[in-house]
Amino acid sequence: MRILITGGSGFIGQALCAHLQRVGHRLTVWSRHPRQAAQRLPGVHVIEDLAEANEIEAVVNLAGEPLVARRWNARRKQQIRDSRIGTTEKLLRWMAPQLRRPHVLVSGSAVGYYGPRDDTPLDESAAPGEDFAALLCRDWEHEAMEAEALGLRVCRLRTGIVLGPDGGALQKMLLPFRLGLGGPIGDGRQWFSWIHREDLIGLIQWLLEHDHAGGAYNGTAPEPVPQREFARTLGRVLHRPAFLPMPAFALRLALGEASTLLLTGQRVLPVHAMAEGFAFRHPALEGALREVVH
Ligand code: NDP
Repeated sequence: MRILITGGSGFIGQALCAHLQRVGHRLTVWSRHPRQAAQRLPGVHVIEDLAEANEIEAVVNLAGEPLVARRWNARRKQQIRDSRIGTTEKLLRWMAPQLRRPHVLVSGSAVGYYGPRDDTPLDESAAPGEDFAALLCRDWEHEAMEAEALGLRVCRLRTGIVLGPDGGALQKMLLPFRLGLGGPIGDGRQWFSWIHREDLIGLIQWLLEHDHAGGAYNGTAPEPVPQREFARTLGRVLHRPAFLPMPAFALRLALGEASTLLLTGQRVLPVHAMAEGFAFRHPALEGALREVVH
């Protein structure tokens, strides 16, 4: 299949591209920085302008400004929204006039869709939240669903915290943990819905290749944990103590509203993918962390 990918140069995208190439798909990545992206993505056709994309059969849409990199003000919030909803809108404008449109769109979203939640397990039918991240995901998904009117099969992927060896949230946590200075974030009772990057990539491939797949999918492992259990398990895997909490007030001071992404959580289950037969290679946290951290 010839697949167009947005966000292909990122933490998930690079590993996704390497995997999809290995299994025989041909890839085009749409990037704002085509030269840098091409260096990171050997063998991938990198384009700066969508007009250069030809004979695309499927689209994976992952582009987005990082959410927790800095404090959110009105301008930053707009950049975060434009980079996702605006990019999706541009994809639709590119597809609409084509005679031979792609037949499937796998489009990003996140577990933040559900907003801050208590211990209740959440499947894909749970209602969306109302905070900034939830509204962002809801509107990002709505935009992607417009592709159904153009005849595409649309899968919306509500991704949890992605664990991989060379980036993402885990890389930011590793240094304090390796120094024995790690611990729970805030009181650690918030749920942490995670997924091993290999499983997320496997799920994206599966959604692309299974003609019956469509709708919302929680891209999370079947065993989410409270954040303090995540910290304990990471400490155990690294053979380091992990008792020093990251105080909530310090995070609020440093990140403002963006700290809610770390201090709150949701207990998300991949009910849709499992009901359709997707098998996780890394369902349990300790095994996944051992594989990622070594
Ligand atoms: P990265 O930040 O590593 O990569 C995101 C990519 O998006 C970049 O490579 C960049 O591509 C593109 N991008 C960034 N800013 C913009 C912009 N303003 N306009 C258009 N494109 C932009 O993210 P991840 O790989 O970690 O995540 C990919 C997607 O999955 C994101 O949308 C993220 O929100 C979502 N997600 C990730 C999770 C995680 O734990 N990693 C969890 C839940 C959701 P280029 O520079 O080549 O244009």
